[in-house]
Amino acid sequence: MSEKIYCFTLPTPFTVGDVNVYLIAAEKLTLVDIGPKTEEAWVQFRSQIEDIGYRVEDIEQVILTHHHPDHVGLADYIKNEDVSFVSLAYNLPWLRKDQEFLTHHDQFYEKVYTEMGIQQFHKKAMSQIRRYLDYSCTITVDTVVQEGDEIAGLTGWIVLETPGHAQGHLSLFKKSEGILIGGDHVIKHISSNALIEPPPIGVEERPKTLLQYRESLKKVIEYNVKVVYAGHGEVVYNPLELVQERLIKQEERAERILSMIEAEALSGFDICKRLFPSIFLKELGLTMSETLGHLDLLESENKIDVENKNGVLFYCKKGAASQ
Ligand SMILES: [Zn+2]
Repeated sequence: MSEKIYCFTLPTPFTVGDVNVYLIAAEKLTLVDIGPKTEEAWVQFRSQIEDIGYRVEDIEQVILTHHHPDHVGLADYIKNEDVSFVSLAYNLPWLRKDQEFLTHHDQFYEKVYTEMGIQQFHKKAMSQIRRYLDYSCTITVDTVVQEGDEIAGLTGWIVLETPGHAQGHLSLFKKSEGILIGGDHVIKHISSNALIEPPPIGVEERPKTLLQYRESLKKVIEYNVKVVYAGHGEVVYNPLELVQERLIKQEERAERILSMIEAEALSGFDICKRLFPSIFLKELGLTMSETLGHLDLLESENKIDVENKNGVLFYCKKGAASQ
């Protein structure tokens, strides 16, 4: 049967603005992402699905590209319908939100923020990161997928794991047409942030999210993706070009940081404030992720030294005398 892809654009309470979710009318009526848990998004969602002749109850499966609230929250509104949720294993605890997960989540951010030297803004950062979860959902994932899997009722599409923006981020790829439904992997008007996120429960090591993200961006080139249906903003018709641009911008930002720490050793938070003087306080999570990611990149290239002073990490250019 011939399939059709529809895009619904829903409001979110976040700085990123509207989110796009995609309805694929294939053998199974499949939704990719669903929107944040707000009344406003729900009203919009229902009205847009009815506009194209379907009802909410017709949805048979929902594939969640990643666990961020603007993509999953509304799942709470349809979870009692006869619908199955599909996602990567990493996302299960994020979508379950039980005490074990919340403890793991909070302990991870406590540690990373302490190491970054955030001090008096620690509480603010923790409450920002916690408040975000209010717009998420509490659901059980019915089908766990992984790299290369096909999804029942969606012939011709495969799962590509594209971690970086989020741990447990997947994209759906239709090889015959070069279409990628990419969640927040590639967005036209903004560079997607490689957010600091905890490893799976039971794993100690912090994921190096920008390094992962760069590998996942290269996948777009490797698979010769022709068009990306993005989670925010317009359709991307030149993904290979855009990806190259993003990779170069990241290298430039890393070089900028390197010049900041040529003469003095700075904590992650000091660097964050210098990189984003006007927005760091409003967007602590995003700006610190951006900073730490680029420090990871410099460290992976062996360009910096890191020193732990009383639990806070200080970074300086390799060979420069630390203070
Ligand atoms: Zn996201």
